[in-house]
Amino acid sequence: MKLLRMLANLGYGSRRDVTAMVREGRVTDAAGELLYIDDAPAYADVRIDGEPLDPPAGLVLMLHKPTGYTCSTKDRGRLVYDLLPPRFARRSPQLSTVGRLDRDTSGLLLLTDDGALLHRIISPKARLPKVYEATLAQPLRGDEATIFADGTLMLESEKTPLLPAQLDVLSPTRARLTLHEGRYHQVRRMFAAVGNHVEALHRSRVGGLDLGALAEGRWRALDAADVERLF
Ligand code: URA
Repeated sequence: MKLLRMLANLGYGSRRDVTAMVREGRVTDAAGELLYIDDAPAYADVRIDGEPLDPPAGLVLMLHKPTGYTCSTKDRGRLVYDLLPPRFARRSPQLSTVGRLDRDTSGLLLLTDDGALLHRIISPKARLPKVYEATLAQPLRGDEATIFADGTLMLESEKTPLLPAQLDVLSPTRARLTLHEGRYHQVRRMFAAVGNHVEALHRSRVGGLDLGALAEGRWRALDAADVERLF
């Protein structure tokens, strides 16, 4: 593929932007030799300002989502995509969030352009554990862990009961909940079903991956070993 199209597809800019970057001498091969728009180099051999390119496909990002951002590509408020470099929003194929976190939920959000991986992660068959920490309006009653672990809890307008979920009490008004599915507003609706209200919600883990030292509002690209740790 010609350099111009390669960089435009990866979202580095319009054809005009990319042409300007090349003319400015910012695009080189791995040895530092200048590349030209009509060259057709291998992805792995291209550098922009000395940095390797984002992967052409199979890009997986982890974002530490703050509250107040929506998992949508078009919404009037702030979008999770606003926290990423603009080139990620222009990529083709597009980067999608892997499931969603509510606007008022913070924590670990994955994004990918790999449709097969996305389905593997969210598939009900995968049953990947997702760990949430909830701050509650009322002190826990004491029976919530048994009710959630039971596998018979029905949420309003659902046709099937929830899978068993594990509740660990952290304090009278804080709990860690591990789910193996992802229904709409599931954590908030589960606590509502036991007469409580979630005041703050944070997702700390998906499968074997946690946020580590990633600060709120920051993102990082996952490598193959990270992706393996999900399953
Ligand atoms: N459950 C919720 O209620 N909200 C989320 O954002 C995620 C899980």
